[in-house]
Amino acid sequence: PEKIKAIRKRNRIHVQGEDIPDPVETFEELQEEYGLHDDIIQNIMRVGYAAPTPIQMQAIPVLLHRRELLACAPTGSGKTAAFLLPILHQLKGPQKKGFRAVVVSPTRELSQQTYRELMRLSEGSGLRIHTIEHGAKAAQKFGPHTAQKFDILVTTPNRLVYLLQQDPPAIKLNHVEWLIIDESDKLFEEGKTGFRDQLGIIYQACDSSQVRRAMFSATFAYDVEQWCRLNLDNVVTVSIGARNT
Ligand code: ADP
Ligand code: MG
Repeated sequence: PEKIKAIRKRNRIHVQGEDIPDPVETFEELQEEYGLHDDIIQNIMRVGYAAPTPIQMQAIPVLLHRRELLACAPTGSGKTAAFLLPILHQLKGPQKKGFRAVVVSPTRELSQQTYRELMRLSEGSGLRIHTIEHGAKAAQKFGPHTAQKFDILVTTPNRLVYLLQQDPPAIKLNHVEWLIIDESDKLFEEGKTGFRDQLGIIYQACDSSQVRRAMFSATFAYDVEQWCRLNLDNVVTVSIGARNT
């Protein structure tokens, strides 16, 4: 309806896809419409987020509906919380299944930032977060038992692929419900042609029928969009700001 169009226009939210969930303008709406858990709302308040940013307004409802997503929004516009909040809501608390969510970031520095935000927003949930930050030695020590002790993995593609390619694989992703590729435009950049293969390996390892995937980036990159159209299921595209591509 007109009201939804007006919200999108006001916040420069552009969407593409079928049956796209409505955006929300406040965190209270997420609580009312989706039952976003109290402890998550409390964490949002404690870190001082008064209202969702435009990418959060649209991407959070899309992910809460478990739709696959390609999201583009400028640097500094709150993309991290846009994927972390729905993951935290859906994973609820710890289980002993192994990793149920994986966030892939192009660099160790970015995965550390994501890890820190995740620690802040998950407080009180009991969810256990692992980040692969050490060298190959630590990666070798990483075994199936390590995975059971954690719910969420934050990693670079190199580290994760290294573990997957051990014989037998040093990590299992068969219970992953959410695979997030952050800064996907950087990963697809020229000179990183290997990333396509890495993504294929990661993607195949996440072989649960429950798995959902989302890509986040700062720019609307043609390569990323093509990849999503080919590989994602009934994808929703959300981009924020002037639409120039
Ligand atoms: P991006 O990944 O889009 O570059 P980040 O997720 O790193 O952006 O967020 C940039 C900054 O904005 C971070 O310091 C983050 O804590 C903060 N932030 C995220 N969401 C909100 C919000 N809803 N209100 C206020 N600040 C926010
Ligand atoms: Mg980011």
